[in-house]
Amino acid sequence: MPAAEIVGGGVAGLVASIQLAKRGWSVRLHERSDALRAGGNGLPIFENGLRILEALGLGDAIQKRGHQLNKWIIRLSSGQQTHEYEPFTATGGRIVMFQRQALVDPLAEAAAKAGVKIETGSRAVGAEREGVLHLEGGRRLEADLIVAADGIHSVVRKSVAGSLPLGKHRKGAIRLLIPIHPGDFPDGNDRVATEYNDPSGRRIGLLPCSSHTMYMILVALLSDPEALQMPIDPALWKATFPTLGRYIDRVGSSGHYDEYHSIFPPAWHYGKCVLIGDAAHGMTPALGQGANSAMMTAYSLGATDLLSGPLSDALTAWETKIRPLVHFTQKFAEGITEGRLDPKNDIFFSDPALRPLLSADIPNMHFDMPDFRALKLPLSNAV
Ligand SMILES: Cc1cc2nc3c(=O)[nH]c(=O)nc-3n(C[C@H](O)[C@H](O)[C@H](O)COP(=O)(O)OP(=O)(O)OC[C@H]3O[C@@H](n4cnc5c(N)ncnc54)[C@H](O)[C@@H]3O)c2cc1C
Repeated sequence: MPAAEIVGGGVAGLVASIQLAKRGWSVRLHERSDALRAGGNGLPIFENGLRILEALGLGDAIQKRGHQLNKWIIRLSSGQQTHEYEPFTATGGRIVMFQRQALVDPLAEAAAKAGVKIETGSRAVGAEREGVLHLEGGRRLEADLIVAADGIHSVVRKSVAGSLPLGKHRKGAIRLLIPIHPGDFPDGNDRVATEYNDPSGRRIGLLPCSSHTMYMILVALLSDPEALQMPIDPALWKATFPTLGRYIDRVGSSGHYDEYHSIFPPAWHYGKCVLIGDAAHGMTPALGQGANSAMMTAYSLGATDLLSGPLSDALTAWETKIRPLVHFTQKFAEGITEGRLDPKNDIFFSDPALRPLLSADIPNMHFDMPDFRALKLPLSNAV
């Protein structure tokens, strides 16, 4: 039985582990934390990611643990509404909110059911292209395939591809979950995501993950460090977003701060080591596609026949097929982050030319490349 060692128990590592185990691999997954903990924030999963979850048999989890949105509203910082979208009309598919943990838990259950051996508290410190994984404490494991799913700061990538520069971008974000209070949705519809944009670059997103819990994201330029300090300064955020005091008051000392990074390695595979998820294609979160893309590369890798010929041929064919779609996603997200947001305060994903991406059918490897020429790009230089 071929053996795979997967590093990283995030969305990418879990999806790849399920697929490989289902295809007859003996799979061990290493997560450095002492549990598969996903952090306290939320994720919108678009049709491309939802199709993958369904193909993994997790349609039930979408229904029970996800929260399907029926409206996405864009407002100015004053509260004035500029746009309202129905997800299907805007993107050609569904948008379902998850608390991260509500996504990781069913994936971990499916992995265990598929026979994946999950080792928590197991930290990789390096790898060799010949198919060797080194763990903290001196353990040395040999495998037919080493999968680096250890995120944007991947140590496996560093071992096999060298020290590559991370793309640095001009924004940072504070993310957290807050409780939903009575009156947050005056018309009773709690399936509405709302974004508030200020010309200073400050932005607040409020996206319900359930009837009880809201994902809140506060974004600002790195050149606006007061806005990104932790814990947040409520007075500062309230001054910019005067209608959002009721939510800002719930932040307190919680929240997790991240700067935006991206990575474009020269290749996604090196000998018996392959990169997926953020380790391969970390991107700015402006398009909400990082985790969706991680699932796309993880699922498509796991669905590839890696055994009937030379491994490098199979990995090259896989990368050649899926990378252009993900590369497009990275570049488009970067474009938004660097400031080319529609001056009319329109939202990124409403561009019909993005539909081939947002509803890509990865389980059947059926998708078209979005046509750059058909996009509204180049967008304006507004923040
Ligand atoms: C501010 C911000 C907002 C975002 N918003 C969105 C969004 O709205 N929608 C979206 O789709 N994406 C979003 N993303 C991106 C998304 O979080 C990532 O693309 C996604 O989590 C990548 O999944 P992954 O499994 O590749 O990596 P990760 O989620 O980073 O998981 C990597 C795992 O590997 C483990 N690990 C790391 N190093 C080691 C090691 N040495 N040994 C063992 N284990 C290790 C980590 O503990 C972790 O569990 C956002 C990101 C940021 C920073």
